[in-house]
Amino acid sequence: MRKIQVITLFPEMFEGVLNSSMMWKAQDQKAVEFRMINLRDFGLGLRKRVDDTPYGGGDGMLLMAEPLFAAINDGKKFDPTAKVVLMTPRGMRWKQSLAQTWSDSNDDYIFVCGRYEGYDERIMTLVDEQVSVGDYVLTGGELPAMTIIDSIVRLIPGVLGGENSAAIESFSDGETLEYPQYTRPEVFNGLEVPKVLLSGNHGEIAKWRAENSLKAE
Ligand code: SAM
Repeated sequence: MRKIQVITLFPEMFEGVLNSSMMWKAQDQKAVEFRMINLRDFGLGLRKRVDDTPYGGGDGMLLMAEPLFAAINDGKKFDPTAKVVLMTPRGMRWKQSLAQTWSDSNDDYIFVCGRYEGYDERIMTLVDEQVSVGDYVLTGGELPAMTIIDSIVRLIPGVLGGENSAAIESFSDGETLEYPQYTRPEVFNGLEVPKVLLSGNHGEIAKWRAENSLKAE
């Protein structure tokens, strides 16, 4: 069973996402085990402090190295070979082919979610991979971590319903976007389903789908 741990100040953000739909199913099937590590538990002093001002000045606060090291070590104690993945706009841009590779790899992961203005750079000594979900800045690493976890876990064999569901999806060949799809009724508000899809002619349907698949930019 794959093990995925997340270091976050906001573990409650993951409850809805990881306990619904495919992520719930993956746990139910024992394909994956999720473990939340609350960074606050490793905070310093009575107030469990996790952040401080940056050396050299500047706005905002940084997550301190000491609680982050302790939280990562806790994750490593639970799963010594797990890879440490830092969520950061500086990281490699996430894409479907990476989701497939990471899903196939059988590796376990510890996702580290930054907050505030970021983190003390010294945690890089413990980080194996840095990942970005795109060229924009979010408030924290939680949404990126959820996005990446979902994209990996749904590709674990057996998690998706149809065996071929993922194979024919957008980006599965690295560039093609899925063709338009329709379901009942045949006519809705005067809008008709393309006739070829009702024809039962599998060759023509495949041709129409190929013609109507887009190339991603
Ligand atoms: N000061 C940082 C900068 O300019 O790059 C942004 C910090 S951001 C407000 C707080 C945290 O959210 C980051 O440390 C990172 O963990 C996460 N984050 C924000 N945008 C992200 C993205 N596009 N991809 C991955 N993580 C992101």
